[in-house]
Amino acid sequence: MQELKILYLYPDILELYGDFGNIQVLKYRLEKRGINAIIDSYSIGDESPDFCSYDLIFAGGGADQEQSILAKDLIKYKENIQEAINNGIFFLLICGAYQLFGKYYKDVNGDIIPGLEIFDYYTEAINDRKKRCIGNIVIDVTLDNIKTKVIGFENHGGQTFNITNPFGQVIVGNGNKFGDTEEGFFLENVIATYLHGPLLSKNPDLTDFIIKYCLEKKYNQNINLEPLDDTFENLCRKQLIDKFCSSNK
Ligand code: GLN
Repeated sequence: MQELKILYLYPDILELYGDFGNIQVLKYRLEKRGINAIIDSYSIGDESPDFCSYDLIFAGGGADQEQSILAKDLIKYKENIQEAINNGIFFLLICGAYQLFGKYYKDVNGDIIPGLEIFDYYTEAINDRKKRCIGNIVIDVTLDNIKTKVIGFENHGGQTFNITNPFGQVIVGNGNKFGDTEEGFFLENVIATYLHGPLLSKNPDLTDFIIKYCLEKKYNQNINLEPLDDTFENLCRKQLIDKFCSSNK
């Protein structure tokens, strides 16, 4: 039986707008195909994980205060995380976690929360609590040379600068900054994005893109995922995309 090992980082601290749903959707789509999903979690005080022993690492969003609580702990693992990224292990990082993998996050009070400095981007919040990028968001994304729309919900004060490879092009919503055309950060094995939702429940093709990547890497062979019946998911997507895109006109 094939299996994927998933590490869920700080589930008790980083969990906003249904981020945990991403783990549930991964498990569901793996198990539907007879693939075993092993899900471990790590938070402050737990035994140190070896990031390199996983196939997929997931971390969700969190408010400034939560980010400041865990930043120091996360930085302890910088070398191991860098090694896992270099080894091609997949990282899915939402919002607060996205920010923490960059150089730093300057919060609404002007205080600096240090990042892992794995990537060169950095994030600064506008010093006005009321100014936040909030709402539904739709972006154009290319996955394995196929263009698709990714839907989510964003709520961040942080404005992320110095992005070299965006995840998607914004159709509706803000993205990395107020009124930006670009959203998130994308490498072969990293998706860092502001999209909560939960992201994967609204985007089954994105979930399968990640699952396929992880299986191909682990088993070193081309994988054709067994198709699942996504009739309801696609109906829901169509409705959301129509609604969000028409309200943007
Ligand atoms: N604290 C960050 C911000 O407001 C992240 C928020 C989030 O994860 N939704 O920019």
